[in-house]
Amino acid sequence: MNGTRDETMPALYKSGPGAGLELVEAPVPRPGADEVLIRVLLTGICGTDLHILQWDDWAQGSVRTPLIPGHECVGRIVETGSGVRGLREGQTVGVEGHLTCGRCAQCRSGARHLCLNNINLGVHTDGVFARYVVVPAANVWVHGEGVPLEVASIFDPLGNAVHAATTHPVSGLSVLITGAGPIGLMAAQICARMGARSVVVTDVSSFRLLLAENIDVVPAAAPESGSEELREAGDTPLGFDIGLEMSGAPEALQTMLDAVSPGGRIVALGLPSRETSVDWADISTRMLSIQGVSGRRIPETWRSVAALVANGLDPSFVITHTFRYDQYAEAFATAASGRAGKVLLDWT
Ligand SMILES: [Zn+2]
Ligand SMILES: [Zn+2]
Repeated sequence: MNGTRDETMPALYKSGPGAGLELVEAPVPRPGADEVLIRVLLTGICGTDLHILQWDDWAQGSVRTPLIPGHECVGRIVETGSGVRGLREGQTVGVEGHLTCGRCAQCRSGARHLCLNNINLGVHTDGVFARYVVVPAANVWVHGEGVPLEVASIFDPLGNAVHAATTHPVSGLSVLITGAGPIGLMAAQICARMGARSVVVTDVSSFRLLLAENIDVVPAAAPESGSEELREAGDTPLGFDIGLEMSGAPEALQTMLDAVSPGGRIVALGLPSRETSVDWADISTRMLSIQGVSGRRIPETWRSVAALVANGLDPSFVITHTFRYDQYAEAFATAASGRAGKVLLDWT
């Protein structure tokens, strides 16, 4: 095991409760027996990281400080713990950010995504916004040959998109996607690729709707487009067969309920930042189904993502900005502005 020569590393750090992040020199972590040390190359800024920066209600109730946040990354293994098998130095890897216990009833029945003791990288334990990160070997995904680094860096959110878009078969059906952030856009791309009859994507950001023009879908402005206009745009007069709610915006939830057909199936991935109300009677009388989706199935979704990319899926149109890690303030402001898709930080 060759150790790295670096003793300290640059890292984005939240020292205690409150808004903001600072760039510090932190000690390089050492891997335990079943862990690996990864040299981080590129990281993605996720909505979760914006919540942590801003220290909103969700962050106050969920985040443990002190903390190095961040969970979306591509990097190279530089050291493996003594008990690690099947991984080696130099491999280009991604990380599943849900650190599951492996012991609970859900984990033991193969449903790691439903682990009862789940810990989130970069939320409950130090994450990837640093030059190095230590993660359990069981959470490492080894990238295949030829995956571009920037595509590899977004396998985590691409996995969210695949998980949501494959919850129900979409072939031949009409799909409404509320929220054209990176995950919504990638889900739209996947639905179109999987043979959906029509895919309509809504957002309040005209910048994001412009990104949707890179793929074979119909962009629609929210909230200006009500459910009637959306049905027209999707050429689906009775309503959409499938809805993917990716925004968490309270206004979008009722739009979604109104726009799907009787018997419509809704996948709920977006996280409202506060409690919100919908007309529950709609769900009952129109016999709608709502399926919550979070994270990725482990490892099935990672395999699906790798197969889609190997077969030519190119989600790089969602990456609009890359900043050096020391320009993090500008990077986070850009990600929060609504005038960006996926924003990357470069740690090389
Ligand atoms: Zn994320
Ligand atoms: Zn578990």
